[in-house]
Amino acid sequence: MACRLGCLVTEPLQITILGATGSIGLSTLDVIARHPGRYQAFALTAFNRIAELRELCRLHRPRYAVVASSDQARVLQDQLISDDLQTRVLVGEGGLSEVAAHPETDVVMAAIVGAAGLRPTLSAVQADKRVLLANKEALVMSGALFMQALRKSRAVLLPIDSEHNAIFQCLPGDYSQGLASIGVRRILLTASGGPFREWPLEQLADVSVEQACTHPNWSMGRKISVDSASMMNKGLELIEACWLFDARPDQVEVVIHPQSVIHSMVDYVDGSVLAQLGNPDMRTPIAHALAWPERIDSGVSALDLVRIGRLDFHAPDEQRFPCLHMARQAAQNGGTAPAMLNAANEVAVDAFLKGRIRFTEIASIIEDVLSREAAVAVHCLGDVLDADAQARKLASRWLENRNR
Ligand code: NAD
Ligand code: MG
Repeated sequence: MACRLGCLVTEPLQITILGATGSIGLSTLDVIARHPGRYQAFALTAFNRIAELRELCRLHRPRYAVVASSDQARVLQDQLISDDLQTRVLVGEGGLSEVAAHPETDVVMAAIVGAAGLRPTLSAVQADKRVLLANKEALVMSGALFMQALRKSRAVLLPIDSEHNAIFQCLPGDYSQGLASIGVRRILLTASGGPFREWPLEQLADVSVEQACTHPNWSMGRKISVDSASMMNKGLELIEACWLFDARPDQVEVVIHPQSVIHSMVDYVDGSVLAQLGNPDMRTPIAHALAWPERIDSGVSALDLVRIGRLDFHAPDEQRFPCLHMARQAAQNGGTAPAMLNAANEVAVDAFLKGRIRFTEIASIIEDVLSREAAVAVHCLGDVLDADAQARKLASRWLENRNR
């Protein structure tokens, strides 16, 4: 549509944020609030932080809000009416999938943590949305089916994980014919090494929840913070990279880079290595994916390399971080192995966050689950969900036996 001054006026893109009250959700709202003519919050979802969701609705005035239970929905709906807002409150997984696939939504930020994000993210893909993928667990669980659904759709998938967003930025526009066809030798996935990179091994059993949740460079939700401390996060990211970029596990090399300035690299056969650098702030990949192929201001300050001074690199220590090793193994085994790894990890991290197990027992639980249940081929979503449920059952049994 043309305005009276002859310039082109377009309606703001309608953005659904799955997991709006989380760390990625809030960073997304920060970026879109910087560009009110360009983006508008369409739907905001939360699990149980209802007071925070109400506040976000007051600020961003979305068409829909989604919460976990009918009771919460009733309370929030009454509050929003008394706030004089038109926002309609929906409930549960049905509500999440409805807003993710809504005909009036243009962009879906998939930022629910864990397996709970799988179905609504798939709904967004099947409804041809621009999907901004932060929820790596969804792809780790169901990679083959997820990518199949993507190929069948007209959806556009853009990675939000800073490493994968960096790799995406270092690849040419079209890499659909495989990495070899565009001269890529390896993907170099950088990792900070987390808070325990240099701790004496014997002290790892005694780390506290707060220590595990205090990341040296990034401010994130608690589950991903623990995953970063155990390096399971890098293991999940390795699997994520294999699906996103059609790479074999041996084409993805993990490099410890404590400063988190280089977010990842692509190594080409002619010896060129392309890297993406920036301050560790998730608003950069979020703004990149929202505006791609254009660029918009994200609110992130300019990188000051002189102040940073040096960039270091080391090989990862898989004895210290067995989760990374198990994830690589699961990527190689394929089938339901990544779904089981992910589910066992979710149960173990939850138990650690509740003070039920030691930090080092996270790896013990995953190892036990993977040793008890062989991976099988995946034919349909049911296979993935069965493997997820079975791994959760085995991990819970491990917890019960421990506390006997
Ligand atoms: P977070 O814990 O801060 O937020 C999680 C969000 O998901 C919240 O809005 C919560 O209400 C919602 N949620 C949780 N359980 C739910 C359930 N069962 N049903 C519906 N909604 C539920 O997490 P985060 O740090 O924002 O991470 C979100 C996702 O993004 C994760 O998959 C994480 O691995 C990925 N990621 C995060 C970062 C980061 O910097 N935080 C970076 C890269 C990738
Ligand atoms: Mg990451």
